[in-house]
Amino acid sequence: MARRYLLVDFKLKSTHGVGRDWPISYDDLDPYYQQAEEALGVAGPDDEDLGSPRSAPYPMKALTLGYMDREFRKTLNANGFNVVTEPAARNSEDYGERPQCCGSNNCMPICPIGAQYSGDVHATKAEDAGATLIENAVAFHVETDADGKHATAVRYKRPDGSTARLTARFVVLAANGIETPKLMLLSTSDTLPQGLANSSGMVGRNLMDHPGTTVTFLWGKPVFPGRGPQEMTSVVNFRDGPFRSEYAAKKLHLGNTADVSGVTESLLGKPLFGPALDREIRQRVARKVSIGCFHEQLPEPENRIVPSLAERDAIGIPRPEITYSIGEYIRRSAVETHKAYARIAALLGAEEIEFDDEFAGNNHLMGTTIMGANRRDSVVDADCRTHDHPNLFIAGSSVFSSAASVNSTLTIAALAIRLADTIAEEAAQP
Ligand code: SF4
Repeated sequence: MARRYLLVDFKLKSTHGVGRDWPISYDDLDPYYQQAEEALGVAGPDDEDLGSPRSAPYPMKALTLGYMDREFRKTLNANGFNVVTEPAARNSEDYGERPQCCGSNNCMPICPIGAQYSGDVHATKAEDAGATLIENAVAFHVETDADGKHATAVRYKRPDGSTARLTARFVVLAANGIETPKLMLLSTSDTLPQGLANSSGMVGRNLMDHPGTTVTFLWGKPVFPGRGPQEMTSVVNFRDGPFRSEYAAKKLHLGNTADVSGVTESLLGKPLFGPALDREIRQRVARKVSIGCFHEQLPEPENRIVPSLAERDAIGIPRPEITYSIGEYIRRSAVETHKAYARIAALLGAEEIEFDDEFAGNNHLMGTTIMGANRRDSVVDADCRTHDHPNLFIAGSSVFSSAASVNSTLTIAALAIRLADTIAEEAAQP
């Protein structure tokens, strides 16, 4: 999924009085969102309003929705919901030397034909452009000069435990929301006893994800999930509203997979055999669907990662130790999510409805090197540059000031391109 934030997602505190504002606006990021969409290859619906204004069309038109998603959209939109086509980094035509999606429904964990974007695309492009990629190099310490002002070198370990060191004029940390702050907190010295870029004490804090709940049911009629990509539509009318001062925004999304194994397991042991069993499996798989969601989490300093004092990994580097809880802001929203699920299930004539209200992580790790205008409560500035070290930058969702309720990847990519522009400009100076 390649979603843009809403304008208000950058102004959560000033609009709804909770969380934080970003020091940049949607307009600052808009041209970089477009560049990111073109670099990743995003197919999206130009004829639908997704709440994020565009200054140019999507690089590709959206893939055609299958029968199930069309029925979902028709029924829900006739009853007060707002279902839209998800923009996705997945080719609806040959694009970027990658083929058109053939609808094989294997997108997670990986697209077997490369129709869907994956990070190896740009790793390869970087190597083709002259970058050197050092495999299995685990960074464990960033050095600074004697007064602790500039980052000067990165030390890393190889699988055999031996170490090496790279010097640099600019250092960019891009190891995601757990490993980036861990590396910074490990990089202590006499000058920087709190670790790298940590004069605010915020490195490792404000860990956010998109905790989700789900509902599963048999639709009132066969809708044949499992054709095309694994997710194509979402319900977006809970992404913003006055409620956001009280409880979390969220996006609901309809899964598009055929649960043949789950249905079969549930029928084994029942008095069904031969053609009758086969028929029952087919009928149930054609009706069984799941809806999941992403709840927006607020940045809370108590949700944090630190290097463990007790546990080390296979090459002797401290493991991350995580303190994390889900607060009332999300729990209040989840009560409303349950009601929305029940209403949707009723509209679809559902049977055998199963709610799973246990929160599940969605692996969107944000906030642990948070961006802000005030250096006393944030780690990087509007350019993803650490407040403390002018040549040290951070790329990735760890800089996000708000989690919003959509997948992080496109915003990560847009910020990365913007960061690259900043470094290119400064690198060109003598
Ligand atoms: S459906 Fe998913 S796995 Fe299959 S070709 Fe399309 S993107 Fe790739």
